[in-house]
Amino acid sequence: MTAPSPSTSTSTARSTATATLRPIERLVTAHRQEEGGGFIVRRPFPTAGADHFDPFLLLDEMGPVCYAPGEAIGAPEHPHRGFETVTYMLDGAMEHRDSTGAVGVIRPGAVQWMTAGAGIVHSELPTADMMAQGGLNHGFQIWINLPAADKMTPPRYQGFEADEFTRSDLEHGGTLRVLAGTVAGFTGPVETSIPITYAHVTLQPGDTIDWESADGETALAHVFDGAAEVNGQQADSGQLVVLERSSGIVRASVSTDATEASEILFLGGRPIDEPIARYGPFVMNTNAELQQAVDDYQAGRLGSIPAAGSGIERTT
Ligand code: MN
Repeated sequence: MTAPSPSTSTSTARSTATATLRPIERLVTAHRQEEGGGFIVRRPFPTAGADHFDPFLLLDEMGPVCYAPGEAIGAPEHPHRGFETVTYMLDGAMEHRDSTGAVGVIRPGAVQWMTAGAGIVHSELPTADMMAQGGLNHGFQIWINLPAADKMTPPRYQGFEADEFTRSDLEHGGTLRVLAGTVAGFTGPVETSIPITYAHVTLQPGDTIDWESADGETALAHVFDGAAEVNGQQADSGQLVVLERSSGIVRASVSTDATEASEILFLGGRPIDEPIARYGPFVMNTNAELQQAVDDYQAGRLGSIPAAGSGIERTT
């Protein structure tokens, strides 16, 4: 896949210096939470004060953690219905197995965009090598809601390796990687059911990037290393900047006299604006649909993971 050329109007931060900056709605600081088989995540939402930012239901940072041999842990077999889980690995490797028979390893820089739809049972575990030898593990999982019309769609996933993402170098050595949607004129490869933007930006001191987020859409900027300024709001590692659902661009920058780079995720999406009924791994519109999901899972109607060796082998 070749990277598209940037459009001239958005290729540099300087050219949009007069653009309107979207106002800040709030700043959310991530909390730490135990998940899956007992691993710790840093989670800006959901929390007591911030349940979701439509259409985003969850944002988890796994690690960074350095496992000793035999210590790596993940999430054993569990179901999902009604939304998408998106895993983006930065370090380490995660093996996915699911009830459709798919098996894949998500390696550093790769993304697995899984549409659970009508239902899937999967496991998300460190690879055998990672289990045996230990090592650095770091990645993100986000949950994205599906509109009612798509909740019962057949499950599928899209996998992309690091070199398949659109990547652009910034003025002072930073980088932009676009997984989905368009940022600064660059478009990512993932197909989404509703308009979604997902990008990873590394800003070196002196770098600035402008994201022309669509009017009325949710826009989030999550700083997960270093510190940055987003539309005038200072944000440190573990802080999520929530922009108003209005119009205007999102501008992230690191000052020239900063001593370290800043790592940021941009998340944008068109709000679904439907009722949300969520219970653990199921996200539906009504409590009756939730109960049906639980019943279907307990009756085995979401399937189960085939024994190792019987699956359809494919990467990512
Ligand atoms: Mn899962």
